[in-house]
Amino acid sequence: MRRSIRAIAVALAITIILPAAALAHWPVANRYAYVSQTYWSKHKAYDIATDKGTAIVPMRSGKVVFAGHKRNCGGYQIWVSHGNGLYSAYYHVRKASINVWRGKRVRDQSTRLARVGASGCATGPHLHFEVWRGFPWASGSYRVNPWGYIDSGYYLPYRYR
Ligand SMILES: [Zn+2]
Repeated sequence: MRRSIRAIAVALAITIILPAAALAHWPVANRYAYVSQTYWSKHKAYDIATDKGTAIVPMRSGKVVFAGHKRNCGGYQIWVSHGNGLYSAYYHVRKASINVWRGKRVRDQSTRLARVGASGCATGPHLHFEVWRGFPWASGSYRVNPWGYIDSGYYLPYRYR
């Protein structure tokens, strides 16, 4: 009897705790943000539209591997490594708002990476948010649907609560 209760407890811990550990947080600290474009074959990212100047926070703790401008239409952008080959990337940020540098350790929901802007090819203020398996844009790396990594927590926009 004791043994079976213990087995059930272990099974519960695996089903509840492990998926939770895989989750990440919404990267825009504004509940009025909304998804303006989801992930599909021609847009391997989520676009989160919100007011210019809204703080952008990392989806998980990690280390910045790039902060600056790239000629990839993303304008000013920040890439964060979360370990185990998982990366997230934040595009179109406002140049003057960049608050981190390569090598900087960042904390989930508490470090401000930058603020929402419209740099690069953006037509209006929004965050273009990508999740990568492998270093962003390196050969062999690929993007995955960010939705699978984001929980339904505090930063989820009100439309999706
Ligand atoms: Zn986009």
